[in-house]
Amino acid sequence: MMIVMKEGATEEQIAAVVERVEAAGAHADVSRGELVTVVGAIGDREHVQNLGLEGAPGVDHLVPILKPYKLASEQYKRGERTVVEVDGRKIGGSHFATIAGPCTVESREVMLEAARAVRDAGAQLLRGGAYKPRTSPYSFQGLGDAGLKLLAEAKEDTGLPIVTELLDVRDLDAVAQVADVIQLGARNMQNYTLLTEAGRTGKPVLLKRGLSATLEELLMAAEYVLKEGNPNVLLCERGIRTFETGYRFTLDIMAVPVLRELTHLPVIVDPSHAAGKRSLVEPLSLAAAAAGADGIIVEIHPCPEDAVCDGPQALVADQFADYLRRVEAVAELAGKQLETV
Ligand code: PEP
Ligand code: MN
Repeated sequence: MMIVMKEGATEEQIAAVVERVEAAGAHADVSRGELVTVVGAIGDREHVQNLGLEGAPGVDHLVPILKPYKLASEQYKRGERTVVEVDGRKIGGSHFATIAGPCTVESREVMLEAARAVRDAGAQLLRGGAYKPRTSPYSFQGLGDAGLKLLAEAKEDTGLPIVTELLDVRDLDAVAQVADVIQLGARNMQNYTLLTEAGRTGKPVLLKRGLSATLEELLMAAEYVLKEGNPNVLLCERGIRTFETGYRFTLDIMAVPVLRELTHLPVIVDPSHAAGKRSLVEPLSLAAAAAGADGIIVEIHPCPEDAVCDGPQALVADQFADYLRRVEAVAELAGKQLETV
């Protein structure tokens, strides 16, 4: 339920509404606009249904939030779009952001070379997994703590903020020390403990859509992070399972404009994991930009044939800048402004 205060409602009146909401067992989320303040009463239906705030001092009117996700809903921000800021780089709204780097941190040399290619091409953030969710328990699982140290070094070297995956709540402190954005992978989209704990760090969270998750399930997962008072959530479409076997996943390009109708949160596209194949990465990136994505997260490697994982889908690092110019040109056509930090 959204409690829209009157223009000129006093701080005391707002505080009284917050107190009533909390006394009813709901969470009160206060958002102050230029003219009016809105108090979101977030909680179970029975907690918010009988608040009895109609006609209370300073209250203008009440608007129910119809979707099961509340803080994530477009309605909640009344048309305003969330812009997540990471070290001065903006993602969302009119800003198009590029996140790039190797699939996994595999060595100091590769990490630094990839990081410099990302920086030189003018991308905004550096990705790389220190903890990897692998289908086979016999596959390389990531360098772990040593990988986090290499990410910290790459950040120091290039100045690029780091996006890295948190797989397990036991690694939260170590990952949060290095990550500027905590990635929660497709396989963990509904790991509610992880969502809550990542939310509590207050760090931006890049939340990837589960392999078979609906958009509503994705938004409900985002709600877990938002509910912790962390507004910095980036949603990521990375391909879903369909009946088609001709390629690895089906990039659900329609999710981009649909999510932009359902939510104010930025929508990022990962063409690399959807495709699994280098030749498909650029066309999917162009499609994502054209569909109105707020950014892309893409894998690059100095020498993909030697990559420890996901080499076949990695863009060659020294071709990355040219690729990026083409993607940015489409993003501009779609009305985005390019980040220059
Ligand atoms: C990744 O980005 O490194 C990754 C494993 O992606 P996903 O969780 O989408 O499979
Ligand atoms: Mn990968």
